[in-house]
Amino acid sequence: MVGIAGLPVVDHHCHLSPAGEGARAAVRFRAAGGTHLFVATQNYEPLVPTDLDSYERQFLTTERLAREVTASSRVVAYVVVAPYPIDLGRAAETLGVGPALELQRRALDLAGRWVRERRAVALGEVGWPHFPVTAEVGEATRHAFRHALEVAHDVGCPVVVHSPDLDPAGYRELDAEAKRAQLPVHRLVKHYARGRLDPAVGVDVVPSYLARRDLVNEILPDPGPWFLETDYLDDPRRPGAVLDLATVPRRATAIAGRSTSDAERLAVPFVRSVEQVYGLTPQLPER
Ligand SMILES: [Zn+2]
Repeated sequence: MVGIAGLPVVDHHCHLSPAGEGARAAVRFRAAGGTHLFVATQNYEPLVPTDLDSYERQFLTTERLAREVTASSRVVAYVVVAPYPIDLGRAAETLGVGPALELQRRALDLAGRWVRERRAVALGEVGWPHFPVTAEVGEATRHAFRHALEVAHDVGCPVVVHSPDLDPAGYRELDAEAKRAQLPVHRLVKHYARGRLDPAVGVDVVPSYLARRDLVNEILPDPGPWFLETDYLDDPRRPGAVLDLATVPRRATAIAGRSTSDAERLAVPFVRSVEQVYGLTPQLPER
């Protein structure tokens, strides 16, 4: 099977790990009809990075996994890199908050260079923790996030945001942050969106929706841009912690089987949103 309903099939956010299934997970994705994966970096080592070399090693691992994905399954893998925002508080325990923030800044600059060199398509995940942190760490996290937006502005790329669930006010705040950094519209993506962002809220932040069946059906008529993702976590210690990597193609197959008009809606997350946000056109692979 190649694509679904004549369209590429894109999972906008997943993680792969050399300690887990790695590139083999993409074979299942492909067998279900998937064609394109956005592979976000993560810590592959037991401790959070406390120096820039560790981040570079981490990004290189992500890049290698992406190459393996394409080699083994011919799924196109886009690399997304940044220091994980939650690292900051953990690194601060050994480095102190100031140096931990400086490390985040330098790792974000490194991620920006990767985008400039076309080794990555976006900065991600950046943002702030989904759990309470001290005021000092919270403040430093905010500075790191603003730096991420500046880097994205300078290199001209999207930003994939990790944050707690956002209500309309939260989306408006994020929208204001993007405008403050003069990021072009539709360049800020809220990943792991678990509830519909009503287009009437009128923000330019792009939701990347967790591909749960009920949520996908709810947002399908929305004009976009919006994405579908699994946030697949390739972690043998946490099986079933998130949706399986075959989920997006499975949902797409079900939708495409309902009606032609439903099938056509899939062009929003799989083609038009990728074009609008990333300036990339996902092509249907040959076979
Ligand atoms: Zn993630």
